[in-house]
Amino acid sequence: MVGYKLNGYKNLTKDKSVVSYLTPDKVYIPLKNGSNEDSTELVSKGNHVFKNMHIAHLKGPLKINIISSISGKVIGIEEKTFFNGQKVKCLVIENDYKEDIENNASLKKNITSYSKEEFLDCLLDAGIVGMGGASFPTYIKYSTDKKIKTLIINAVECEPYITTDYRMLFDYTEEILETIDAIMKINKIDNAILAIKKTHKSLINHINNYIGSYDHIILKTVPNLYPMGWERLLIEKTIGVEYDKLPIEQGIVVNNVSTIYAIYEALKYGKRVTERIITFSGDMLVEPVNMLVKTGTLLKDIMKEFKFKKGNFNIIAGGPMMGSIVDDDLVISPSLNCVLFLEKKCDVEVTECIRCGKCAKVCPARLSPVLIKDYLKDITMLKKLKADNCISCGLCSYICPSNIDVRSYTEKARDIVRKAG
Ligand code: SF4
Ligand code: SF4
Repeated sequence: MVGYKLNGYKNLTKDKSVVSYLTPDKVYIPLKNGSNEDSTELVSKGNHVFKNMHIAHLKGPLKINIISSISGKVIGIEEKTFFNGQKVKCLVIENDYKEDIENNASLKKNITSYSKEEFLDCLLDAGIVGMGGASFPTYIKYSTDKKIKTLIINAVECEPYITTDYRMLFDYTEEILETIDAIMKINKIDNAILAIKKTHKSLINHINNYIGSYDHIILKTVPNLYPMGWERLLIEKTIGVEYDKLPIEQGIVVNNVSTIYAIYEALKYGKRVTERIITFSGDMLVEPVNMLVKTGTLLKDIMKEFKFKKGNFNIIAGGPMMGSIVDDDLVISPSLNCVLFLEKKCDVEVTECIRCGKCAKVCPARLSPVLIKDYLKDITMLKKLKADNCISCGLCSYICPSNIDVRSYTEKARDIVRKAG
């Protein structure tokens, strides 16, 4: 069986109520999504902006609307840290604390009554992207001529510590089920599967109390293994289907729970993506929490709300397996679901590769990470080794007895092969 059992550390946050931090003095709205940073700004220094207002567009095939999360005044452009650790250009807005909202779209009381075209427009308008880390524009997943047969709602959250979707499913069960039902009706989808880890027993019992009236939505449990939330593995495990490049080849769309809730808010209230819930956790934080924060908030400001244990720590944007080490200049973006504060360990000694083969044994993409590392400069071999299939899961680094950061090599190799085409 593909997958590896990890210590989850979910108990640190999963049963706690979500808290809020919604009053930053300034927000820094990143002009970037995934690798797309080809932006057109719609506002400039000195302009007043409303909350919920389009302030920029990202161009190209993965077009995205960039939204202001507060009302106030644009005071410039600055570089801040994106969740992948790179610097990103951000529009800086000074908060007037009025929360003046720009109302948009003609709304419908019944969210099932949108036409497919109106649904796609609404998703594009609201700036909705995959909120589990993927940041792929959601409207594109549904913009297909192919028949969508199955919608899979990914509630697996297989990385340790992260409990945002767990919390959302508990707190907004009816809204999420109502939205799945509406998406199915609007897109004429036959089946929907809500996939949850089988170890989340209380959540499963809770959902079973609500799901009865939606007999076309099926709850399926999956093993508590990493990376069970990886789309390819999840689809194989839940419906036994394989695909070549994208799930839509087989008529499948996958969304995570936070994305479904963002769709609900867009359809019901015309709300664009201006806030999200993030898990703040790790062994150096005194009180790990799930917190509702505005997009564009600076981590440095949020950290003033926290107490830390004595000692040095690394800040990780994302989970401990796939995340990146960042600084406190990190800005909150719509697809960031977790920030960790983990003790900096100084005594980790990296030694020679002992050719144990453990990295190849655990790789869910069935790659040979050790060989990819060895052939990093040989593009022909990297292509033969299918290095472009690396999903950055980090299991090869996690398992390596020599403490080699194997993932850093396999990611480089993947990027080399993808660039070469
Ligand atoms: S990071 Fe890439 S090479 Fe390493 S185990 Fe994951 S998929 Fe395989
Ligand atoms: S797990 Fe580490 S030591 Fe073992 S083969 Fe892979 S890179 Fe070498």
